[in-house]
Amino acid sequence: MPIYGRLPVAFERGEGAWLYSVGGEKYLDALCGVAVTTLGHSHPAIVAAIKAQAEKLLHVSNWFEIPEQIQLAEAISKICEMDSVFFCNSGAEANEAAIKIARLYGHNKNISNPAIVVTQDAFHGRTMATISAGGSRKNQAGFEPLLGGFKRLPYNDLEAVRQVANNSDDVVAVLVEPILGESGVLIPDQGYLVGLREICDQNEWLLMFDEVQTGMGRTGKWFACQHENVKPDVMTLAKALGAGVPIGACVANGPAVGVLKPGTHGSTFGGGPLASVVGKTVIETMHAEGAVERAAEIGEKLLSALTTQLGGNVLVSEIRGLGLMIAIELNVEISRLLQKILDRKLLVNVTGGGKIIRLLPPAIIGDAEIEQIVSTIATVLESHQA
Ligand SMILES: *Cc1c(COP(=O)(O)O)cnc(C)c1O
Repeated sequence: MPIYGRLPVAFERGEGAWLYSVGGEKYLDALCGVAVTTLGHSHPAIVAAIKAQAEKLLHVSNWFEIPEQIQLAEAISKICEMDSVFFCNSGAEANEAAIKIARLYGHNKNISNPAIVVTQDAFHGRTMATISAGGSRKNQAGFEPLLGGFKRLPYNDLEAVRQVANNSDDVVAVLVEPILGESGVLIPDQGYLVGLREICDQNEWLLMFDEVQTGMGRTGKWFACQHENVKPDVMTLAKALGAGVPIGACVANGPAVGVLKPGTHGSTFGGGPLASVVGKTVIETMHAEGAVERAAEIGEKLLSALTTQLGGNVLVSEIRGLGLMIAIELNVEISRLLQKILDRKLLVNVTGGGKIIRLLPPAIIGDAEIEQIVSTIATVLESHQA
């Protein structure tokens, strides 16, 4: 179906930070399949884990014990210090599980029409519940009726959340991205997540973070909420957890543990042996290579190189980022911006109506790749001015 505006290039092989096109051309991947391949393409440890597990067992039903799933749950539980995990196959599905937990939690408190606070410009996926929770009118248009039970507030606005807390009895949870990803790397003020934690505690609401994009080391900590030392009650993961093999996880803690009872939710593929082994190998490999620390270091270097070399450009209005989630916001729309960057063999994302260049490079790049990213974008901007 003609859903995607596809770029005219096909890749047949990937290695580390590089992708090789069918025509044999080499591209630097500063997109990572949208925040998926944080360890680079075809990492030997991941490839070996896939091969070994494929030879043993690909699939069994969740009606049986799956030791690989338990091991992955334990590994996730350790890095986020949360108690229990449900596995599915994507970020949207992980958020669906979070939404169901919030509603059940509300009904358990005798709230018959439970509402979840969500934010403007949020992205939580493309299913009916997640486009309803999301803040993009474009993603919702034509798919009405939307799902009810969401209260939308401005992002980064604690006062608006406090007002809802004072004026309504039906709210049961808050679902937010710690940094808005699809909307162009919008980083809230320091204290936003702490403030949300306080309001949720005061009102016995579940605090739910969508860390599908920000999680798994992307921002230079395992999870973006750890920058503010805030622990949510529910956290959703996907993207980089599987390094390209589909997986999603909904992690619960405190009052969110045990809300989903036997028979209340499920997934055929979720937490299968192959995806579980891959997820576990991703976490082990990230530990072994210090990938989270490297994401922080490389991210700082890249952000400062961009700021030094592009900060003074008249077309650039802001350069911002945390770890390896970086955006260069322009004050003009450059036609075919993405294509022009692609022509110079660099993969990025352009969002925000064509004005925001979003960089999500892997945690394995060095100084040469950082310089290539910066100089490529500089060249494209200069050629526009000329
Ligand atoms: C990508 C993304 C999703 C959706 O994940 P899918 O695996 O595409 O369903 C949800 N939330 C956030 C913050 C994302 O970046």
